[in-house]
Amino acid sequence: MDEHALRQSIVDHCIEMNASGLNQGTSGNISARAGDTMLITPSGRPYATMKAEDIAAMPIDRDYGSWSGPLKPSSEWRFHLDIMRARPDVGAIVHTHSTYATVLAMARKPIPACHYMVAAFGGNDVRCAGYARYGTKELSAEALKALEGRNGCLLANHGMIALGSTLEKAMWTAVELETIAKQYYHALLIGGPVLLSDAQIEETHKSFASYGLQDDEA
Ligand code: 13P
Ligand code: ZN
Repeated sequence: MDEHALRQSIVDHCIEMNASGLNQGTSGNISARAGDTMLITPSGRPYATMKAEDIAAMPIDRDYGSWSGPLKPSSEWRFHLDIMRARPDVGAIVHTHSTYATVLAMARKPIPACHYMVAAFGGNDVRCAGYARYGTKELSAEALKALEGRNGCLLANHGMIALGSTLEKAMWTAVELETIAKQYYHALLIGGPVLLSDAQIEETHKSFASYGLQDDEA
């Protein structure tokens, strides 16, 4: 995909993220890797009127924090950039304030192995990153810790981060994370879920190797 198409795809995914109810207003942000550059949504801008040219560009491995574009990058550029630097497997990042993930994050409840789909996030739970003010390096450090060996995490009193090798996969991760958050929330209301064992999650990991959207077709 050329850079212009990737910029347009970021805008399209932002519109989809709000239209589907996953995110609301100007909350949330999306980034994608274009070679040695990170493309990221501008800060505080409504998605409906956002254009491909409005997406900011930041070098990944040099001049930390420098950017180009008509609008300043998302206030969360630090965690987007730090994840891109630390995780070469990550091609795109979706950050949302989706309701159920945020409700659990407000209660600072990680998501345990309440459903086999927890394996889709890389381990046997989804961690909740410690609290730090939005946009800070401290938040980025907390997020990186919570994302170790994972494709998604909650952010205390804030929202969630979902990762993928492509934009499509990162959005898929975000939708699945919100879904399991909603299911876990409801299970808590009826006395709490019966948790799956490490062995049961492990066998799910093995079977996921050939399940769903594969890298070579995304
Ligand atoms: P931006 O509009 O700066 O991307 O911020 C939204 C957000 O979700 C901050 O955490
Ligand atoms: Zn946020």
